[in-house]
Amino acid sequence: MTENHSRESFAASILQFPPVNARAGTKSEDHKDHSALLDTVLDNMSQGVLLFDAEARLVFCNQRYIDMYGLSPEVVVPGCGLRALLDHRKAVGAFCGDPETYVTELAEDIAQGKPSNGIAKSADGRVFSIVRTPMPGGGWIATHEDITDRQRAEERIVHMARHDALTDLPNRTMLRERLEYELKRVKRGESLAMLCLDLDHFKSVNDTLGHPIGDELLKVVAERLRGCTRAPDTIARLGGDEFAIIATGVEDPSDAATLAKRIRESITRPYYIDGHQILADISIGISVAPVDAVEPDLLIKNADMALYGAKADGRGTYRFFEPEMDARMKARRELDMDLRKALVKDEFELYYQPLVNLQNNEITAFEALLRWNHPVRGLISPADFIPIAEETGLIIPLGEWVLRRACRETANWPDGIKVAVNLSPVQLKSRNLTEVVMNALVTSGMAPNRLQLEITETVLMQNTFNTLATLQKLRALGVQIALDDFGTGYSSLSYLRSFPFDKIKIDRSFIQDLSNGAEPLAIVHAVAGLAKSLNMISTAEGVETEQQLETLQSLGCVEMQGYLFSKARPPEEIVRLFLQDGKCATGT
Ligand code: C2E
Ligand code: MG
Ligand code: MG
Repeated sequence: MTENHSRESFAASILQFPPVNARAGTKSEDHKDHSALLDTVLDNMSQGVLLFDAEARLVFCNQRYIDMYGLSPEVVVPGCGLRALLDHRKAVGAFCGDPETYVTELAEDIAQGKPSNGIAKSADGRVFSIVRTPMPGGGWIATHEDITDRQRAEERIVHMARHDALTDLPNRTMLRERLEYELKRVKRGESLAMLCLDLDHFKSVNDTLGHPIGDELLKVVAERLRGCTRAPDTIARLGGDEFAIIATGVEDPSDAATLAKRIRESITRPYYIDGHQILADISIGISVAPVDAVEPDLLIKNADMALYGAKADGRGTYRFFEPEMDARMKARRELDMDLRKALVKDEFELYYQPLVNLQNNEITAFEALLRWNHPVRGLISPADFIPIAEETGLIIPLGEWVLRRACRETANWPDGIKVAVNLSPVQLKSRNLTEVVMNALVTSGMAPNRLQLEITETVLMQNTFNTLATLQKLRALGVQIALDDFGTGYSSLSYLRSFPFDKIKIDRSFIQDLSNGAEPLAIVHAVAGLAKSLNMISTAEGVETEQQLETLQSLGCVEMQGYLFSKARPPEEIVRLFLQDGKCATGT
């Protein structure tokens, strides 16, 4: 039933003004035209519209109102009282309040001649916004709008702003809010533990198995974390593979340690995702309130510092915050700041350490090793500052400086002498490494086949596809590639198959172990043999004694580098000691 009485009477009742566009026709024709037009407009509105008279009786309502609440057009007719209308809505589940109260409150608003707003809910959970405007001669117009979808969208946005999309765990914003709330209870005498967690080697899962599997893993990890905590605890994902937990009701730090152990037990259980078995571990930093801090940001920062400590301890473990961590962190930050200035202030130098052929005792190459002349602290070892430069990204300009300097300083050293430059894994990930190398060669005039680049196994553990492509490109320039510190990573042997290296440098730790039984001997022997059959040079690093030298010779090692022959020296000394008259003297 589309025609309803109320509409006609309403159109008629409000069409007392002159038609806006009185063109041809009689007044009554105009009136009819406008009435029909208005009906169409009213029925096509997205809101339900009702007009009540001064006695709270319905004068008019549009079809939209009836449809919106699923009402009966037999009941909703002109003359129907507000109370009867509400009772009908209640009966069909389109009104959730108490009709009596509603009518009383509404009557008060209308009596005061004030516009008013309201919200109505239906039994099936839909939400309606109502605006009532009093009419001059009594009565009022009400518009009803279904705002369920809009409200859900708004709720969703609010939810999204405070939750992580992948795992639906609270995000950093919500974590902070919850922490602030929980810390109020700490002020009343309770205590809580803040845990910062980081999945170990998650990046290599992402790089080797792809992001969709990495995402799946994070979801399962989130699930397992939920399983380890109690309902009042908050688990948040802070981004990437970082999570955080607020553990409430912690009576003693040992409770937090128990939780950390439980989490590790759960996280280290194998994962089966998409046909892959994945093993993971987690590092955990813990700070306790009120002992370590009562301010949310400081408590998080302290837990984060403890996490840093857990990672430095070799990962896969937990650490509590200790005040000394703060001091160490400050020292690191200072070092980082000094490091940034050092490049501008020209505080870096390259030292060169010779590599010697074990058969004829001749120098084959020099390895360029970075030295930092700190104005206050003196000479700082690269082992102390390169990890920081890698973390902050400073290794990119610094590595470029090393390449340029090494090529420039050694370009006119004798033809047969190669120069080895260390590359950080971070540099290998940068897109323009090949151009940087090419540029260093071209501007210095250094022959490409004299340059050797040393990379470590960690380079191959990450993003193998792109890394191999970069290595191929470098190789195509004529540059040689050496695998440095061989044997310190895991599955070292498999990396030998992945790329045709020119050289394998056996890590110092194996050479030091040579006198400690048969195993290190067997390993070095095997690596030297493998290198030979793969057409690679084997170099022993860190040779310090005559005895090591003899053993290495007998094991078939081709080259050695170490203090026994010479430590790294500044270029002037190299030229003076080893390269006089363009010839290579040996020994110091
Ligand atoms: P590495 O590439 O394995 O370099 C060899 C390290 O062993 C050097 O330490 C060298 O001085 C030391 N060494 C050589 N012979 C002996 C020996 O007989 N006994 C002992 N105990 N040590 C010996 P250094 O110069 O302190 O460099 C440490 C590490 O820092 C290097 O290890 C390399 O990984 C990194 N590094 C140095 N310069 C650079 C650079 O320009 N770029 C990058 N990315 N890393 C660099
Ligand atoms: Mg090296
Ligand atoms: Mg090395």
